[in-house]
Amino acid sequence: MTDLRMHHEWPLLVQMKEAGFPLEQVVAFFGFREEDIRKAFGGWVAVESTRPKVAQDGTTACPRCSHEAWPVQFGMWAHDPDNPDPKAFMAGCVVGGDDPEWRCTGEDCGYEWRVLRSG
Ligand SMILES: [Zn+2]
Repeated sequence: MTDLRMHHEWPLLVQMKEAGFPLEQVVAFFGFREEDIRKAFGGWVAVESTRPKVAQDGTTACPRCSHEAWPVQFGMWAHDPDNPDPKAFMAGCVVGGDDPEWRCTGEDCGYEWRVLRSG
């Protein structure tokens, strides 16, 4: 098993992740296995540069398969009697620096992404 954190190109990988490169591009560029990259970083959330158009029910369309995508919510989940079954994914209380904001509900897709923060 390869531990990419010991690899001499690790700093470059870190830079590309921070710059928001899609994982496929990084895999193609370095020739590392996607699995090894995910393992080394503990995940690789895709970054989209365009802010999604949010529908009235708080959902949006997946940029990959155009299936419905739901927002990922962090923090304590407070039950809302007016909205007992919200269209959102609950991610719990642990917030890292690289959390997805959206997740596709398509079974074959499951694409997760966050929106590039400008400035
Ligand atoms: Zn999708």
